[in-house]
Amino acid sequence: MNHLPFTEKDAIQIAIEYYGIDVEAKSLPGEIDRNFLLTTKPDRSLRPVRFVLKIHNPQTPREEIEFQNAALRHLKDFDGVPHVIPNKDGDELFLYEGKYLVRMVSYLEGTLFADAPVRTPNILRQLGAFMAQVDLALKDFEHPAMRRDAFMWNLTRADEVINPRLPSLRGGLQSDVAISETVGEIAATVELSRNDVVEKVLEHFTRRVKPALQDLRWQVIHNDANDYNILLYDGMVTGLLDFGDMLYAPRVVEVAIAAAYALLGEDDVLNAIANVVAGYHSVSALSATEISLLYDLICARLAVSVAVSSERAESEPENEYHQISAKPAWEALAKLTATNPEDATQIISSMCPSRLSSQTGASQNGERLAPQAIIQKRERNLSKALSLSYENPLHIVRGLGQFLYDENGTAYLDCVNNVCHVGHSHPRVVAALAGQAVALNTNTRYLHENIVRLAERLTATMPAPLSVCFFVNSGSEANDLALRLARAYTGQKDMLVLEGGYHGNLTSLVDISPYKFDGKGGAGAPSWVHKLTLPCDYRGIYRDDDAPVARYSADAQAVIDEVDTAGRGIAAYISESIIGTGGQVVFPDGFLAAIYGRVRAAGGVCIADEVQHGFGRFGTDFWGFQSHGVTPDIVTMGKPFGNGHPLAAVVTTPEIAAAFNNGMEYFNTFGGNPVSSAVGLAVLDVIEQEGLQKNALHVGRFLKEGLLELRKRYPLIGDVRGEGLFLGIELVTDRATLEPASAETHRLVEEMRMRQILLSVDGPLHNIVKIKPPMVFTKDDAARLVRELDLVLGGF
Ligand code: PMP
Repeated sequence: MNHLPFTEKDAIQIAIEYYGIDVEAKSLPGEIDRNFLLTTKPDRSLRPVRFVLKIHNPQTPREEIEFQNAALRHLKDFDGVPHVIPNKDGDELFLYEGKYLVRMVSYLEGTLFADAPVRTPNILRQLGAFMAQVDLALKDFEHPAMRRDAFMWNLTRADEVINPRLPSLRGGLQSDVAISETVGEIAATVELSRNDVVEKVLEHFTRRVKPALQDLRWQVIHNDANDYNILLYDGMVTGLLDFGDMLYAPRVVEVAIAAAYALLGEDDVLNAIANVVAGYHSVSALSATEISLLYDLICARLAVSVAVSSERAESEPENEYHQISAKPAWEALAKLTATNPEDATQIISSMCPSRLSSQTGASQNGERLAPQAIIQKRERNLSKALSLSYENPLHIVRGLGQFLYDENGTAYLDCVNNVCHVGHSHPRVVAALAGQAVALNTNTRYLHENIVRLAERLTATMPAPLSVCFFVNSGSEANDLALRLARAYTGQKDMLVLEGGYHGNLTSLVDISPYKFDGKGGAGAPSWVHKLTLPCDYRGIYRDDDAPVARYSADAQAVIDEVDTAGRGIAAYISESIIGTGGQVVFPDGFLAAIYGRVRAAGGVCIADEVQHGFGRFGTDFWGFQSHGVTPDIVTMGKPFGNGHPLAAVVTTPEIAAAFNNGMEYFNTFGGNPVSSAVGLAVLDVIEQEGLQKNALHVGRFLKEGLLELRKRYPLIGDVRGEGLFLGIELVTDRATLEPASAETHRLVEEMRMRQILLSVDGPLHNIVKIKPPMVFTKDDAARLVRELDLVLGGF
């Protein structure tokens, strides 16, 4: 705690006298300045407002404080930094008691990044992206006090800070034992003393970083994105505090500092760095030189930190804090210096695909258009059969993780995009795509590793005997091929489909999609397509029956018998494992197994359409069919496989594949090309590395519980159903008659959009709110979704 002699009473007095506000005051921590949280007294008409009053240490030069105020003024339109509040005389800074400079800033709501329960790769990317936004906003800002050459935390002068402190590191040698204990193998293999570690960092800094500094992009940077300066709100990185370390420096220093803090305590320090850097790069592209300096800059920042603590520990041996606080930095340094710098840079740059444009979301093909201009051009040159989401359509220019950003930088929580499965613009996926595109993209008639690796990885997720892959470009292509496979194998044409099902946009698939042929513009089922009743626990015809599966399955048998009587046979049964377009319909237990049994007994095959919910979305299993304990003969997949890149596949048995191989080649120009295959491999890697299936399970359960709570309070919510991150809310105006609340569903989704939360309406009765977000969706996102739904429903 600092020694400035001010109490909460003084703060209240200053607030009244200089700002004319009646407040309560609470002391806040501050090493150098004296800070108080001021809260205005509740008033009948006004909600309490909070401010931070700062009484500066007289040792801080006035121009440094003015520098901060000027920067915050420059950032006045930037959400997420404090804003300076002038006093009654209009002054942003004034002298108090002839000696102390005082100012007041707005208080930012949120929780500290340091208190975040988990630090996922996704949140580290959000952090990097946020810092890039700050830097973009500060890009043109200049101030006479911005050059702080003698400042200890000026990383461009790390050598000058570390050098004189080297002797204090020598004194601390015995602690190396502790390092070896904590990081075991790494310290044991490198066997470096503390001094050696820091000297090595210093040598790299002097030889590699120093000469490159002058050619980098310099600007004013925040320079201290540590866990206690970053704020989260609803699990989003929303705020940045403490501009006291700001200076003019290469902007890559900003990234290095954010990464140096983010990696503390992480097992995989390089991965943590790569994620922060990738987030920054996704908003403001870093050059190859900047990226190549990051490893050394991060090491240098950690070395400055430990050198300063060691010196303090020497001068204040009774204060154990200095040693304790330095421990994570020492551990990180030990890990980093045991890594080959080139390998580290390779890992970092592998997450930073090169970009054409360095500005946030700038159009890559010319000037950005106003939303209205885009609408007009769509009307002129695109088919009106293509709709737009929302009454007030969104102009989205950038995506990261579970967020989409419009042209003004407003973040929307994406609760519906099951295509960008591992998160929008995931840097690992984008880098895989770009990296392979640089080398080669061609058809699959040449030998290439990617396609066979992908086939191997994909079939490893499947039960035997599903082992033969066909790579295609869309879910529709996959399902069309599945029909061909089924027909080739069985010699039959007739299909069994479920009411409300959708399988694609090709002629063959509109034919087997009741969602289309029974909907607007549809012509009903063709003679070879047979609809089975939707086995819905909530709305299905046997919902009140004691043994619904037996009833549904008996009905299916009746259909099969009719086909047989007509002298034809069943080629296949196709369905999803939860019917998406049909309204997120969950089958009664045993339904799929019963139907598969009947179909196979009739000589047909079973196709699992995993296009919407495959790749771990249910949380419990990687594939939806696994949650029903069945093994299909043909599995189709698409949407999430390429995380937005057109990549889809069919996996089948060797027997069916052999029947299809009748001499006519199956060639698909783009399917399985090296770029698409690289993307598919990256998606599979990320699902595994970031534990996304498990995330879907936990977050999905948490979300469903929250929605079920809402159901208790709002009769409008008839049903909440689904698995993992594939959920649906069915709205009804009457729980007894199940009258669909279509208008309310539409309104709910529109109102949520106004609250920056994206959902969609689905189901044949247009009364299902669909929830199927990118799999990086967090509990905070889920809580926010439930809270906002509550607010909107409360207003109905
Ligand atoms: N099957 C299902 C279950 C789908 O939801 C979709 C797309 N909504 C498709 C197939 C068709 O996929 P695509 O749009 O990639 O052709």
